[in-house]
Amino acid sequence: MTSLSPLLKQATPVVVDHALGSWIYGTDGREYLDFTTGIGVTSTGHCHPKVVAAAREQTGKIIHAQYTTVMHRPLLELTDRLGEELPSGLDSVFYANSGSEAVEAAVRLARMATGRPNIVVFQGGFHGRTVAAASLTTAGTRFSAGFAPLMAGVHMSAFPYAYRYGWDEDAAVAFALRELDYLLQTRTAPNDTAAFLIEPALGDGGYLPTPPAFLEGLRERATAHGIQLIIDEVQAGVGRTGRFWGHQWSAAEPDILVTAKGIASGFPISAIAASTATMSKGWPGSQGGTYGGNAVSAAAGVATLEVVREESLVENALLRGEQLHAGLLRLKDRFPAIGDVRGVGLMQGIEFSAADGTPDAATAGAVQQATTEQDLLTLTCGPAGNVVRLIPALVVTAAEIGLGLRRLEAALESVAE
Ligand code: PMP
Repeated sequence: MTSLSPLLKQATPVVVDHALGSWIYGTDGREYLDFTTGIGVTSTGHCHPKVVAAAREQTGKIIHAQYTTVMHRPLLELTDRLGEELPSGLDSVFYANSGSEAVEAAVRLARMATGRPNIVVFQGGFHGRTVAAASLTTAGTRFSAGFAPLMAGVHMSAFPYAYRYGWDEDAAVAFALRELDYLLQTRTAPNDTAAFLIEPALGDGGYLPTPPAFLEGLRERATAHGIQLIIDEVQAGVGRTGRFWGHQWSAAEPDILVTAKGIASGFPISAIAASTATMSKGWPGSQGGTYGGNAVSAAAGVATLEVVREESLVENALLRGEQLHAGLLRLKDRFPAIGDVRGVGLMQGIEFSAADGTPDAATAGAVQQATTEQDLLTLTCGPAGNVVRLIPALVVTAAEIGLGLRRLEAALESVAE
């Protein structure tokens, strides 16, 4: 009998029968409150009626048009819609299927646009699992160990991880910017540096918002040296942080923006945006792929962006994120194993630490398992695996956040016993 590969690590034993909004209904008859959303993908909740209708309708028209062979209407519409949200300088877009592919495409574009080889990434960043994307990922060696050699030309600089260093945020930002300047002096000269690549909040690397002053420091240096600032909005984009784009918590704007996950509520599609001038530095045909910009995914993307706007989901993410964060701070007061609670919008992390401050992955793992027992789905993250992350749908209600917090508290109690 064939079975699924043991290479896939299962976070929960749940088998889904169906799902709606913030809820997953298991084949075991249980009703799970979903604070994982397919790792930050089902932005409008599971099976939002408008997204379902758009995808159904498109499936009856054309499923796969191959956008470099024949163009299709949903992609043109999606491009218009995205254009309403993108920073004004980023007026040119192309599409791929996944976050990893889009990150690779962005790096390829930055190298072509600058004629320079090197990419600087920031410690704890997660950018995907394909070989190039894994080469750019420093969220844990588990994402790259065992299949070297990785892509050349990647250099890592510090991330302002204030809690880890035991510093305040300003000190952490000053330190990380100094480290970056040092890297540019000692390892990759500005003239050899094509891009800085950063997430607006570390995702798989520990649910850690990037301080606005750090992004602004990168922007300054990128502008001064003709380096492309690539912002990876794959997990933080499309409202998740309580702004449409995560980088909008700062004054810094990207040269190249990468988005995926939340953009189509679960249908695979990713987008890379830059200025026409930047895009024109490559040649026609230098990017593309068979499935990129799929018609059904694009139709779901248009519906998703409509729902985000009509239902004020960016505002909801901000409010419900504040509610969730306040509740987590109360839990931190009660449970000493919680070392830090942080996040932005509906991207909230709970870092577990031992009494001496070292990462406590065992407790984080036990809490994550215990939440499933309480019918609340959560995930872990962080290089050490000691952060429990909460990623509710952007449609989550105040009552659902309250219920999620009660279930989380019960899980923490069961582990503390
Ligand atoms: N970048 C970020 C910030 C991500 O969170 C992820 C996925 N977790 C990726 C890139 C890779 O996306 P995918 O899994 O779709 O390849």
